[in-house]
Amino acid sequence: MLPKEIQTEVEKGTMLPLMEEFYTIQGEGYHTGTAAYFIRIGGCDVGCHWCDVKESWNAAIHPPTHIDHIVENASKYSETVVITGGEPLTWDMTLLTQMLKDRNRRVHIETSGAYPLTGTWDWICLSPKKNKLPTQTVYDNAHELKVIIYNKHDFIFAEEQAEKVNSNAILFLQPEWSKKEEMTPLIVDYVMNNPKWRVSLQTHKYLNIP
Ligand code: SF4
Repeated sequence: MLPKEIQTEVEKGTMLPLMEEFYTIQGEGYHTGTAAYFIRIGGCDVGCHWCDVKESWNAAIHPPTHIDHIVENASKYSETVVITGGEPLTWDMTLLTQMLKDRNRRVHIETSGAYPLTGTWDWICLSPKKNKLPTQTVYDNAHELKVIIYNKHDFIFAEEQAEKVNSNAILFLQPEWSKKEEMTPLIVDYVMNNPKWRVSLQTHKYLNIP
């Protein structure tokens, strides 16, 4: 249980449970291959069984950190800052994104969309999850829809999600890492037959970088 004054700061979004921050190459989706500073915020109750960052779920184990400290670090490294999680929209992103924009950063988010959109974003990557579907504000504002393919049924889910997202969003199918041998050939065939989709791979894992 956090002390009340810290809890209030977290609710306002002036402090956030910071799990890790690192400068690396964006491995997935539209901005693959470009340098970015990643800020991973703890807390997620979506519960994907194949999640590769389960350590992020419990916000209580990640120290509430002042956003000026987070912004100060991020500003040293890269023009592009990616806010990821966990599920960053668990928290109010308004102040963090405002401060990053004040420092002339491009601000991206990776989200399941499970909570209403807060914050000012240059790029919203929506990766919807079946157990907690996205809120309308995220469907309406996403620049990119990235659906993880764990089994064949996920192609049906992907089409359902493509119907819901705004018509400008760029559509990606990405194999879940532990199923990549089985699913990548199916994705390749699917994209050739349905060229509105593109293939996304977790290239950072092939490169062995975070
Ligand atoms: S939404 Fe993301 S962080 Fe949350 S459980 Fe699913 S994969 Fe993990």
